[in-house]
Amino acid sequence: MFSLLFKGFILWIIWHMLRSMMRPSPHIPHQPYQPDSHSQDIPMQRCHVCHTYLPEAKSLSDRQGRYYCCELHRQAGTHQP
Ligand SMILES: [Zn+2]
Repeated sequence: MFSLLFKGFILWIIWHMLRSMMRPSPHIPHQPYQPDSHSQDIPMQRCHVCHTYLPEAKSLSDRQGRYYCCELHRQAGTHQP
């Protein structure tokens, strides 16, 4: 009885070892921490008319280099001195 349990235990260990060997190791590439591009490192510009801050990529600019939140404010801003 004891030898049967022992054999089963050995088989259980062998089976686990084989399974862990067959299984592809969960290789997770270590990625360096990258800050969320949506929260930081985005140049923010302020609308010349309503003074709302918005990402530079979403802002409109005029020839004077001023930034605006929308086309309406850009038109309003370009007519300002
Ligand atoms: Zn605006």
